[in-house]
Amino acid sequence: MPPLLELDAISRTYTSGGEPLTVLIGVSLAIESGEFVAIMGTSGSGKSTLMNIIGCLDKPSTGTYRIRGVDVASLSGDQLAALRRETFGFVFQRYNLMSDLSAVENAEVPAVYCGMAKTQREAHASELLRQLGLGDRLQHHPNQLSGGQQQRVSIARALMNGGPVILADEPTGALDSQGGKEVMAILEKLHAQGHTIIVVTHDSDIASYAPRIVRITDGRITSDEKQQRGEAGNRAQTVEPEKDASAGVAVLGESLKMALRSLLHNRMRTMLTMLGIIIGVASVVALMAIGNGAKQDVLDRIQAMGTDLLTVVRGSPGARASAGIVTSFLPEDLPSIRSVPGVAMAIPETNQSSLLRFGDQDLMVTAVGTGEDFPQVHDWPPQSGVFFSAEHVTSYAQVVTLGQTVAKNLFPKDMNPLGQYVLLGSSPFLVIGVLSSKGLSSRGDDLDNSVWLPYSTAGARVFGQRYFNNIVVRVSPDADMSLVQAQLHSLLIKRHGKEDFNIRNMADTIATASETQNTLTYLLAAIAVISLIVGGIGVMNIMLVSVTERTREIGIRMAIGARSFDVLFQFLTEAVMVCFIGGLAGVIAGVGGGLSTSAIAGWRVIFTVSPIVLAFACAFLTGIIFGYLPARKAARLDPIEALARD
Ligand code: ADP
Ligand code: MG
Repeated sequence: MPPLLELDAISRTYTSGGEPLTVLIGVSLAIESGEFVAIMGTSGSGKSTLMNIIGCLDKPSTGTYRIRGVDVASLSGDQLAALRRETFGFVFQRYNLMSDLSAVENAEVPAVYCGMAKTQREAHASELLRQLGLGDRLQHHPNQLSGGQQQRVSIARALMNGGPVILADEPTGALDSQGGKEVMAILEKLHAQGHTIIVVTHDSDIASYAPRIVRITDGRITSDEKQQRGEAGNRAQTVEPEKDASAGVAVLGESLKMALRSLLHNRMRTMLTMLGIIIGVASVVALMAIGNGAKQDVLDRIQAMGTDLLTVVRGSPGARASAGIVTSFLPEDLPSIRSVPGVAMAIPETNQSSLLRFGDQDLMVTAVGTGEDFPQVHDWPPQSGVFFSAEHVTSYAQVVTLGQTVAKNLFPKDMNPLGQYVLLGSSPFLVIGVLSSKGLSSRGDDLDNSVWLPYSTAGARVFGQRYFNNIVVRVSPDADMSLVQAQLHSLLIKRHGKEDFNIRNMADTIATASETQNTLTYLLAAIAVISLIVGGIGVMNIMLVSVTERTREIGIRMAIGARSFDVLFQFLTEAVMVCFIGGLAGVIAGVGGGLSTSAIAGWRVIFTVSPIVLAFACAFLTGIIFGYLPARKAARLDPIEALARD
């Protein structure tokens, strides 16, 4: 059978400052299972370098290293990680415990990477610590333990997955002589239980615990002595983790726990990082709600004008510029339009900005020349007085009905406008009614700042034109809208001899308006998404800092068996968690912000599920995308260099 560990003509050359430096030269060494070997040499002789190669943390520059006959050079990164996890147990001079984990949790870490279930892990770690005399220190953190106690925790960690081969690099170097003796006694006991022990030391007293002492000077083995003592008996057994169905969940759960812990460790920083995500998500949610509210407002206003209306406007389809010179909408058209089946009412509408005067008070209003059916066509009844009648139209009566805004602004507060005369253009008009309030048009104009007069009088006295700008048709409730529209179309072509008009129905108007509003909403969403990206860059920045800060922790984790993927996953989890929590907070802030905007500014806001889900998903994705680069950086760290970092 091949020896457990076999080094054959190993050398290791560092390049420091461009100069190659060979620290191990032609080292050949075989170590059998169950041996207790001390590697002894002065400081700088290459002991740690040799130990790192034995523990598969480092690779030799030349020569071959075989473990149970298998050439290490042929193994993948994950296979090496598995060796570090399941075959080797590292004990370092400076303990290398993780400061925010308790004694039990520190000891548990190698088993986490094996996928051992939480309860089994905890029980095993506690048992090991109890055997090492730390039964009453299980929940203590490293800074609450003495050096000797910390070293015993690190031995427990080395034994967690069975630790058939214990590699201890100056395990007593930071301890007083009593602590050192205790640690060596533990290693002796482990040897007696069948563990293979390799201890690196510069101290001959420590080395004398070992039956075999290998001396190393300037990178070469200078002696290899065996003292005659009884060899240890049975081999140490690897603990087989119970890989139940929940093992994968356990690894994920552990990652979440570690991520949460590290986020809580840097509360202020976490908060600030999250703020970017919160602002991004909140703005998506709030702006979309405001955009939707505005859209619905516009649609409602259009709807309020009546959905069963057809508007005939001047100008051939697609040729707006010619609108001004089309003069063919004449009063004679009205009777034939009214005779089309399905047409309930038809009125002309010609709007012009005009100066209205009462006494010495002037007001710019929209003067509307129209027919007597205007209130019925638009569902817009008078509030006081009356609308003009068909009689008024045929007799060219100089009567006018006012809008609410006009009535309010033109007359003193306590005066009733009814029965008063106002000047429109240069003609006096008798005020016979005031319409109820209608509010804003779909374009945002004040519809109540208008006055209505018979189209006959308007044409003769005010506008100086006989023809109309528009004709508005109200279709009977039981008639087919598109059929009526088609019949109107052919009628007008017959009458005018050409298509010098456009017929618009409300469905078209609504579609156009909602398209415009959608564009606006998407614009708001784009702005919000940009702020989310900025937030993501913030996350990436902080994660990069975090990786740099925790390089040593990453080194420890890799030394005790974490795969690159485990490290990647841990940091990714952290980034995603920041974005997840930030996303949740952002949704809450966005809903709150939207609601308070509507309360303060009186805007209408409408929350829909899709932008909220979308924003949240974006935040989550942001975590993955912007967390990936830092996480990959962490996963690609060289364990030796990472461990060397302070
Ligand atoms: P020991 O553990 O016996 O004190 P080491 O194996 O740590 O010695 O180091 C042996 C020599 O290699 C030292 O001279 C040290 O400066 C050098 N060395 C160790 N690590 C590196 C490195 N990463 N880059 C360059 N030189 C190194
Ligand atoms: Mg050393």
